[in-house]
Amino acid sequence: MQLARNVLKSRSRRRAGGVSLPVSRRSWSGRPIRRPRVAGRLTPAARLAPIRWCVRLVALAAILPSIGFADEFTFTNDAGDEVTVEGRLAGQGQGVFAVELADGGVLLLPERAVTKRVEKEPPEALTHEQVEKNLQETFVDGRVLTIVEEPYVLALVTARKEFDERTLRKKQAGLTKLARLFVSLETKFRSFVRTTRVPVKPVAFPLVVLVFESDANFETYARMVTGDKDLPARNIAGFYDLRSNHLVLRVSEMDDYRTLIHEGVHQQVFNRRIIEKFSPVPVWFNEGIATGFEGDGETLRSDPKIPNEVYGPRALLARQVDFEDIVRGDGMFKSAAFAGPSYARAWALHWLLCTKYRAQYAKYVRLMSAKKSLALDDADTRQKEFEETIGKSVEELEREYANVLRLALRRRKR
Ligand SMILES: [Zn+2]
Repeated sequence: MQLARNVLKSRSRRRAGGVSLPVSRRSWSGRPIRRPRVAGRLTPAARLAPIRWCVRLVALAAILPSIGFADEFTFTNDAGDEVTVEGRLAGQGQGVFAVELADGGVLLLPERAVTKRVEKEPPEALTHEQVEKNLQETFVDGRVLTIVEEPYVLALVTARKEFDERTLRKKQAGLTKLARLFVSLETKFRSFVRTTRVPVKPVAFPLVVLVFESDANFETYARMVTGDKDLPARNIAGFYDLRSNHLVLRVSEMDDYRTLIHEGVHQQVFNRRIIEKFSPVPVWFNEGIATGFEGDGETLRSDPKIPNEVYGPRALLARQVDFEDIVRGDGMFKSAAFAGPSYARAWALHWLLCTKYRAQYAKYVRLMSAKKSLALDDADTRQKEFEETIGKSVEELEREYANVLRLALRRRKR
């Protein structure tokens, strides 16, 4: 908590040309509607457009040091070249292999493109120092400052290459504070998970956080990663990229901690295998847990059991979307008109379950953790599994939640 205050205090340094890391408070009034995010919001078509992704990931893989024995996949890429990569087979389905690479990224390879597969031991994860070195060599347009604070590796891509010693020290100090903030977020996340008694796995790969000082550099990078299809890069505040396993932030959207916390929780959820990447876990669950930690964005004090003063009232007003919509499908999250209410409802459903249905919640999370990468669930299966595990119908929860939430919000205000 002390850390949060320290970071906030450094606001004035931002204007003095120091490190532009999370620094200023902004009142809720007049804040623009939250921009949607990438993690967990990819359409199935985008998820399964692997050839183009291969090109990018193979380009990155080319600079990785040798990682010893591994499954070897040889495939033909977009350009018609034959390429070989090493990785662990993390899942197979819908005509695609999900191959986990040594840096924690996942390569989606269409089965038809694979010409040869040799089964070997999975590769050893890259060390934090190897990942740090790779990051320093990846971004050539700006200067890259890095720091390792395990399990995190943070990289600040600066807007300019040249700056004086004093500015350099300020940027490094800002990066150090940010690294500690992520470690605190991890501690907070783990303590919440412990209270739910849901088993989690240790983080197996260095967790990369990329921070761009310049919006133009961020947007170029975001366009490369997201393809600019579902969401224009200029509308992305920050994102966690399932494929590269990188959390990507822009300084101009770090006026408060909400983006950082939200995306940081996504990164924890996937790296601790609470959800397998590309598994059919409903978006409401993934977004419910991430929004649950946001709090007011000013500190890391909140957790999903605390009624949120932004999402709570929004959920009560969000009549366009109900629990049945988000339990049965993910479509609402992808629609510009319904995304806002869907996020609010996802927060509300997650809050209701982890506060009022704790044992059932833990059982549901365990069920979600067992979902396999690249499997598919239809709407009926989703609803049936949900209702059987929670022991109530979606309709009953719909009738119940508003009064419980109103009461909790009133109590919080007192
Ligand atoms: Zn999210």
